Amino acid sequence: MGRKKRVGFADLQATHAELEGGEVRCPECKRKVSEADGVRFVRGFGQAEPSLAALNCPRCRTSISIRIIATT
Ligand SMILES: [Zn+2]
Repeated sequence: MGRKKRVGFADLQATHAELEGGEVRCPECKRKVSEADGVRFVRGFGQAEPSLAALNCPRCRTSISIRIIATT
């Protein structure tokens, strides 16, 4: 007993449609996360579409990175 639970990190992959549709879940607490939770999109240099999204889970504060999978 007694290991203090620390804020974790998670790396996920999802399409933009999955993210928009709220189909991405925090791997720690299984809460659905969506753009409404304050997703920050990271755009690679010279890229038209963001390739990475990052947010903190509103429930457990896990720092989640989502790699956006291109659907085309
Ligand atoms: Zn969570």
